[in-house]
Amino acid sequence: MNGSGLWHAEQAWLGYRAEDVLIEVEDGRLKAVTAGVSAPAGAVRLSGWTMPGFANVHSHAFQHSLRGTVESGAGDFWEWRQEMYRKADSWDEADYIKFAMGVFREMLEAGITAVGEFHYLHVFGNGLGKAVIGAANQVGIRITLLDACYLRGGMDGRPLDEVQKTFSDGDAERWAHRMDELEEGPGVRIGAAIHSVRAVDPASMRIVAEWARRRNAPLHIHLAEQPAEVEECLAVEGCTPTELLAREGILGPDLTAVHAIHVNTLDVSLLGGSKVSICACTTTERDLGDRVGPIRALADAGSQLCMGSDSNAVIDPFEEARGVELDQRRATGRRVLHQPEELFRAATVDGMRALGWDAGALRPGMLADFVTIGYEPQVLWRQLDLGYLVFCCSARDVTNVVVGGKTVVSK
Ligand SMILES: [Zn+2]
Repeated sequence: MNGSGLWHAEQAWLGYRAEDVLIEVEDGRLKAVTAGVSAPAGAVRLSGWTMPGFANVHSHAFQHSLRGTVESGAGDFWEWRQEMYRKADSWDEADYIKFAMGVFREMLEAGITAVGEFHYLHVFGNGLGKAVIGAANQVGIRITLLDACYLRGGMDGRPLDEVQKTFSDGDAERWAHRMDELEEGPGVRIGAAIHSVRAVDPASMRIVAEWARRRNAPLHIHLAEQPAEVEECLAVEGCTPTELLAREGILGPDLTAVHAIHVNTLDVSLLGGSKVSICACTTTERDLGDRVGPIRALADAGSQLCMGSDSNAVIDPFEEARGVELDQRRATGRRVLHQPEELFRAATVDGMRALGWDAGALRPGMLADFVTIGYEPQVLWRQLDLGYLVFCCSARDVTNVVVGGKTVVSK
């Protein structure tokens, strides 16, 4: 992932629309980005629209195996979860590496250059975590392994279901000990996750957050996806899940809260005031019958937004980006809550930050991840325009992908 070379883009997004852009890459990073110059000999020509790579902030690779089987069945969220657990159980390292390679390949072809893999399959300790890192390395996508602490079956301290038992390390100290054995490398970051306030008690949450903060590692959590979590938290802790995180010192700009749907006005100001990133997973949330969160309000309160393909039933960063806006239109009866530029930032630079990567913008010094779309016929004559990009393009329009200065997709 430390390639070098020269590319020449017909049109590119540099924070503004630019033409004839020479992109010079050295050792995996952008060395210079110069608009308005003709292509020197030896430069790879990119026709169409070139832009920074997309960040897929929340993925569970194994859930791709549910694609096509649960959308039209499997009951409500909690019944869907039981189906999902059955798929969680059936992997060995060799199967999982092969399967995850297919999922990550699909992400790359959709223009995603970094994935946050929220990982809780611990049946072989770090075996499947290392398999998923190996899969990412082999296909050439950046990965932040967000390895989750997962200890209990619910907030009353009930034990894990039979199938959840393999997710658990027993206690947070053992989770931390296992985490210390995971290694970062080129294209690999290790981040921490508290599975949810349901699955991790307050004392253990603090251990996970402390582990992450000691290492400057991203910290993620599933938050308030379903009303049952909020009700249970109110009953057991006497406060909402967000208030619980505030009380335990977990909120901060290094935290990404995934979903954040059932949050009240106080929760919104706590999350925004602490600059917690909010990861929306629109296509999965639709499938599961999750409601639509107050994303506009969270952004106004100070949160950065980002997006994830979550269950991977759909892998399309353009669909995730416009979905944030379009779902809120139906939920609120209002239009244009977010400008295309805000959605684009969420899908690129703000998502990359939530995963701990210095990428997502075509600027010297940044990691050299960039994608080109050239299939959509309009793109060949239109001026690059983020409104058209976000609302009218799809994963299938991606024709070229470069990660760390290495071409990984070229159609
Ligand atoms: Zn998730």
